[in-house]
Amino acid sequence: MLSRKPIFPGIIELNFQAGEVLGCNVYLVYDGDEWILIDIGYEETVEDFVEIIRQIDFPFSRCKTLVATHADVDHIQGLAKAKQLLKTSVTAHPNAVEPLQSGDTLITLAEIAAQDLKMAMPAVEIEHEVNDGDVIEVGSLKVEVWHTPGHTNSQLAFRIGDVLLSGDNIYRDGCIGAIDAHHGSDIKAFVSSLERIRDSDVKWLAPSHGPIFANDPDLLNATIERVRGYLKMADFGTLAESWPLMDEWDEEVASGKLPDGLS
Ligand SMILES: [Zn+2]
Repeated sequence: MLSRKPIFPGIIELNFQAGEVLGCNVYLVYDGDEWILIDIGYEETVEDFVEIIRQIDFPFSRCKTLVATHADVDHIQGLAKAKQLLKTSVTAHPNAVEPLQSGDTLITLAEIAAQDLKMAMPAVEIEHEVNDGDVIEVGSLKVEVWHTPGHTNSQLAFRIGDVLLSGDNIYRDGCIGAIDAHHGSDIKAFVSSLERIRDSDVKWLAPSHGPIFANDPDLLNATIERVRGYLKMADFGTLAESWPLMDEWDEEVASGKLPDGLS
């Protein structure tokens, strides 16, 4: 038996617990004997995580559900296997149901043909759908569900007291979860989700990758400004809403303007 290393009362992060980074952050939220897992990571690390849970003495039969923060392969590839081992249910946002139940390799980014990347995406049945404002009860603990679209359209965050399990919304260095049209990114929605986090009275952000950090308005503002800029940048392809250079080009074509020194 190992002693538990909660990061907040009722919240254990399994990589931190293990003293070793095995994959994405996996949060075990508990009260008494009852517990849930938020994300599980890749299939190949499921047994390691389950072994950690055994060593810190949580009865498998009291796992209420496995929760997906969103339908990206690095968070949920192991759900089917974990579900089998723990004999429990799976919970996700409605937008994650179809990709998870069909094992969609494109939406989950398990397959990126241009990079020769092809991972398995085992299909898993979703028993419970949760959406913004829902509460998941774990013992007497209330886990408040936030829908925070932007990175993907299924991204959830979970508030427990002063702490937000903040998913792929923002990391300690101000980076954000990948913006990619294939898994349903939306830059405007991303800005709104980040503003919601900034404007809340949540004190701590416990992200899906990397260390926990304070909900600091300066960090959030710098990231929001950067992400808002993406709306007008060709870099983001179909996810940008406009490209101001094309308006300038219209005018310059109409007036026959060339750069100074060329005409
Ligand atoms: Zn993701």
